[in-house]
Amino acid sequence: MKRIAIIGAGVSGLTSAQLLKNNADIVVYEKESKIGGLIRCERIQGSLFHTCGGHVFNTKNQQVLDWFWQMFDKNQEFHKTDRNSVIFLPNGQHIPYPIENFAYLLDEATQKAFIQDLLMLASSGSCQVDNFQDFLKTRFGNTLYKLYFEPYNQKVWRCSLTDVPIEWLAGKLPMPTVEEIIYNNFNKVAEKQFVHSAFFYEENNGSQFIADRLSDGLDIHCDSNVKSIELKGGKWCVDNETFDEVVFCGNIKDIPHIMRGVDIEAYLKPIEALQSHGTTAVFCEIDANPYSWIYMPDKQYDSHRIICTGNFAKSNNGALPPNRITATVEFTDDISYNDIISNLKRIPLNPNYITHRYNKFTYPIQQKDTREMITSLKQKLSARGFYMTGRFADWEYYNMDAAMAAAMKTLKRITNA
Ligand SMILES: Cc1cc2nc3c(=O)[nH]c(=O)nc-3n(C[C@H](O)[C@H](O)[C@H](O)COP(=O)(O)OP(=O)(O)OC[C@H]3O[C@@H](n4cnc5c(N)ncnc54)[C@H](O)[C@@H]3O)c2cc1C
Repeated sequence: MKRIAIIGAGVSGLTSAQLLKNNADIVVYEKESKIGGLIRCERIQGSLFHTCGGHVFNTKNQQVLDWFWQMFDKNQEFHKTDRNSVIFLPNGQHIPYPIENFAYLLDEATQKAFIQDLLMLASSGSCQVDNFQDFLKTRFGNTLYKLYFEPYNQKVWRCSLTDVPIEWLAGKLPMPTVEEIIYNNFNKVAEKQFVHSAFFYEENNGSQFIADRLSDGLDIHCDSNVKSIELKGGKWCVDNETFDEVVFCGNIKDIPHIMRGVDIEAYLKPIEALQSHGTTAVFCEIDANPYSWIYMPDKQYDSHRIICTGNFAKSNNGALPPNRITATVEFTDDISYNDIISNLKRIPLNPNYITHRYNKFTYPIQQKDTREMITSLKQKLSARGFYMTGRFADWEYYNMDAAMAAAMKTLKRITNA
């Protein structure tokens, strides 16, 4: 039997290990003390803290769906919920998400300006854009851009939206036509097209439940930060243990520092140039409300989103009284404790700080040449039995299901997998 090392026990590494475990001798290395990566959760005072975001599951990929539900009991271990998302506008109005479908709820002057925008968009036809600002303006018009898209996305990206590339966009944002926007407003249509318009959530322990189940039957070494991967005589030495092949689900940025025995000189600078954002996830209790996600364009505070994890499962709320639930208040990049506390005072729903976690790598940024460079590196390394898959190995804006699909695709290349 082949011996295969898997680096990283996030969704990608655990999926890979499950897919390979019957045909190979697998060792999974995880640098943290607990498995899960970005989907990791912790119990604090009885409540569930999603240490990054507030992960929910769904997929439109039939292969992933079939594989996933063979690992879990859909009816006993999960429940399905329709997304109920909302935008909290600075004037105090709460508009359902996505805003372009609910423009009929805006004040009269804004509605009239939006109608003018739609007429202009319809007459100007489609045009080529190369940055996020132009994409949003040509898709939704200037009025909604100024009211919501610009202030919200500036908090998410922390830069001018003309500097945000659009390579990551495909399939990630609604792309309605003018006709669809008008139809959706006439008919009060909520967005149903996207993968999390309805989602599955675990009865207990949130997304940590997924990680824990995906670890069944695996040999996982936690607290094992792999520092050296060397190709020697056709075998891979991973921190002095010898393997036939390696599946790397960590961060591509680490590869230049840990890989030996393969000439990857040409990739060093492009890898170093890759950019990303981090996220500060602030675990809070907030006022009870009916929402799943709350989007916040208000410039008075830096947070862009509240994920109402307390509404996903009762067991997430520990011993909180019925008028309070748990939630993750999200900020892009690293926010100091003092800034968090000062921000929370201005954020709606009376958030009360419990704890927070900063994850340095959460959102990969793709430039024009990113895909080509990574595909070329993957080809070079896979020819030697080193496979890369995962959100930060592929530098792709994957959801959990896309990470699973990517692992399935990558591992097809491993003989006998
Ligand atoms: C804020 C936010 C919200 C999200 N919400 C959702 C959602 O609701 N639904 C959804 O489907 N997806 C969601 N996602 C996406 C989801 O988190 C990812 O698709 C998924 O977790 C990626 O898993 P991964 O294994 O590829 O990467 P990671 O989770 O980053 O795992 C990589 C693992 O490798 C380990 N590692 C790295 N280097 C080494 C090393 N040298 N040695 C040993 N171990 C190492 C790390 O410690 C980590 O555990 C969200 C993402 C973010 C950022």
